[in-house]
Amino acid sequence: MDHIVIIGNGISGVTLARHIRKLSDKKITIISAESDYFFSRTALMYVYMGHMKFEHTQPYENWFWKKNRIDLVNGFVEKVETDAKKLVLKDGSSISYDKLVIATGSKPNKFGWPGQDLNGVQGLYSKQDLELLEKNAPNNKVCNRAVIVGGGLIGIEMAEMLRSREIPVTFLVREKSFWNGVLPAGESAMINEHILEHHIDLQLDTNLEKIISDDNGRAKAVVTDKGETIECNVVGLTAGVTPNIDFLKDSGIELGRGVKVNRFLETNVKDVFAIGDCAEQHEGIGSRRPIEAVWYTGRMMGEALAQTLCDKPRKYTPGHWFNSAKFLDVEYQTYGWVFSERSKKDNEQHFHWRHLSEKICITVAFDKDSHQFLGLNTFGIRMRHEIFDQWLTENRDIDHVMTYLRDANFDPEFYKLYEEEIVAKYNADFNKNISPKKKSWKRIFSIA
Ligand SMILES: Cc1cc2nc3c(=O)[nH]c(=O)nc-3n(C[C@H](O)[C@H](O)[C@H](O)COP(=O)(O)OP(=O)(O)OC[C@H]3O[C@@H](n4cnc5c(N)ncnc54)[C@H](O)[C@@H]3O)c2cc1C
Repeated sequence: MDHIVIIGNGISGVTLARHIRKLSDKKITIISAESDYFFSRTALMYVYMGHMKFEHTQPYENWFWKKNRIDLVNGFVEKVETDAKKLVLKDGSSISYDKLVIATGSKPNKFGWPGQDLNGVQGLYSKQDLELLEKNAPNNKVCNRAVIVGGGLIGIEMAEMLRSREIPVTFLVREKSFWNGVLPAGESAMINEHILEHHIDLQLDTNLEKIISDDNGRAKAVVTDKGETIECNVVGLTAGVTPNIDFLKDSGIELGRGVKVNRFLETNVKDVFAIGDCAEQHEGIGSRRPIEAVWYTGRMMGEALAQTLCDKPRKYTPGHWFNSAKFLDVEYQTYGWVFSERSKKDNEQHFHWRHLSEKICITVAFDKDSHQFLGLNTFGIRMRHEIFDQWLTENRDIDHVMTYLRDANFDPEFYKLYEEEIVAKYNADFNKNISPKKKSWKRIFSIA
């Protein structure tokens, strides 16, 4: 019987293990140095904020793994010997495999800043990072101010976490507007305002120069490229992530920024595969990047590879891009492609609507010439994934999206609805005369 060994117990590794078990009787071992059991990384912030205990981030009961004959090993893999099909762990033990899957995720970027390894300087990625933050910033007596470096999704989460304990936060963002490499200008501007309204000292167009130490090797201040010195007790490094693959350096497995894989998630070495944040496609699929460090990608790769490892070869075919996140209390969803000004294609045009006073907006991207619907971003309005997936597959035009927008709304009952206003603005902007159709459950259920 094949022994499949998976390094990493994140969403990609455990999805793979669960699906292999559904399909086969193969021997499965998952190795992780981080935690005994799988937990939801995206929920880590809620533990610090007191909304849940760490145990509540574990979607499966502890007995689940034994019952499903998935062996768990707590250990760090230091070396992969592909000729001998053997792994060497930090404690000196070794584990043999027939098939190996690398699902080792990411680590926070460090760009060689002076002082980046001082005490009090940390990322926010792992369970250990959460524990460290609890020590470094338990309250605003111990931590008078935190400086967060890097304006992405993890940075804003860290800011929200610290603010929940009333710790003053300065947020250094290299870009001239928050996340404007990804978000169109109107959305990015709205999030700038939202951050400031949450009493976070957002400093745009500002880089970290160095972190200054006190006499005990602890961070006591940062210096920015604007020449400002900001006193602080904690520095959060959230300037993106990189695949966690250093231990593979001498393994013979082809590496780029991540572990290089083909569409079947195979590496250059027979019987070795990679999935999740650490996998790098030789070429990005469609408009996707070769490395996609997002939750859903890990899950989809785990599902696809389980089929291949159970003798039903399946390409990783991710379908239309979608994602969701949160900027403080504003929910964000994206379906298809809506590019920022920086990466917008020549044919891409945007329709943007924003609520006059609330942090609610949508942007719809469409083709200038054919008017084909390309994608949609929403802030503060929940949408139905299946409907946008279908409209993208059917190459619908933007008029169709506007006409049936009410079908796509997924906000809870009694939420205020904005389709009337959105379509009125669309009509005014593009000289159209569309009247939005009433929501039809029949149409919705024919898709969902
Ligand atoms: C705070 C935070 C919030 C996020 N929010 C979102 C979100 O809202 N939406 C979204 O799409 N994505 C989000 N992400 C990203 C998402 O969590 C990741 O894309 C996803 O967890 C990656 O899963 P993975 O299985 O590839 O790897 P991971 O979850 O990183 O798991 C890899 C595991 O392998 C272990 N490991 C690594 N090397 C070794 C080794 N040599 N030996 C043994 N074990 C090893 C690691 O310790 C880790 O436990 C967030 C990430 C963070 C940190």
